Amino acid sequence: MINKNKSLLRAFVRVFALILVLSMMLVGCEEEPPKRTFPDYNNSNNSNNSSKDTIKPNNKPSNNNNNNSNSNSNNNNNTNNNSSSSGKKRVAITYDDGPHNVRTNAIVDELAKYGFNATFFVVGNRVDGKAYNGANAVKYAASKGNEIAIHAYTHNNYYDTCEKSVYNSELDKTYDAITDILPNAKVRLMRPVGGRITEERTADCDYAVIMWSVDSNDWKYKNDGQPGVNTIVNNVMSQVKDGSIILMHDIYENTYLATKEILKQLNAQGYEVVTVSELLGSPKAGVKYSKAS
Ligand SMILES: [Zn+2]
Repeated sequence: MINKNKSLLRAFVRVFALILVLSMMLVGCEEEPPKRTFPDYNNSNNSNNSSKDTIKPNNKPSNNNNNNSNSNSNNNNNTNNNSSSSGKKRVAITYDDGPHNVRTNAIVDELAKYGFNATFFVVGNRVDGKAYNGANAVKYAASKGNEIAIHAYTHNNYYDTCEKSVYNSELDKTYDAITDILPNAKVRLMRPVGGRITEERTADCDYAVIMWSVDSNDWKYKNDGQPGVNTIVNNVMSQVKDGSIILMHDIYENTYLATKEILKQLNAQGYEVVTVSELLGSPKAGVKYSKAS
């Protein structure tokens, strides 16, 4: 009888220990946004292994504006001339699918070293959710003069096939997520998920619809180490020209590493990296753009 009680006690202790371990594992897991259904956005690596502290500026010092809103330097600028007053070639680098609590900040810091700005097409549930400390990343990017724009709220829907109510919700909720933390932001731009949107929805859109002319294909090489970084850099540098809009994603470590090299090379070749609104002059709502004309 005593032996039976002992073995019962041992079994009970084992089950209790198992439950304890399992619950500790669950609590330890980082909160993830909903699983995505698009090939380029699966398995986003969320490890915090950025090496931003090792960045060494090699050129002009940063030129921070420290205004806590979107860049609005295109006000009263109705020209489509994509060359700056200094005559430099200009391009826009765009980052989709963030914010990311480490990589977005690291990319922003890298841009700031050259006095450059980019445009971040954000996912709303990463901005107003807890998973990626996204609100702080977006506020930080905006504080350095970068442009914040709309990509999606859930990133689970294409804008050429989803219901109108779903489409409106994706845009409206992302707009709200941005303006809740940046009340003075001028949100002028959107980028459809996968670049897919109907002509009708484009024409009715309250935002300028921003596509791209240079695809880095960074998501394809996100897990390929330094060879992948080199491929991303080459994909961009072999295609870039004055007026280009470059597509990247600020959630991957390789994108951050490639960005460092791309900025270095663009700067060396006399390019200036500006926001999409600066590049395009005054992009119009309901019009689709893929580069400066
Ligand atoms: Zn996307």
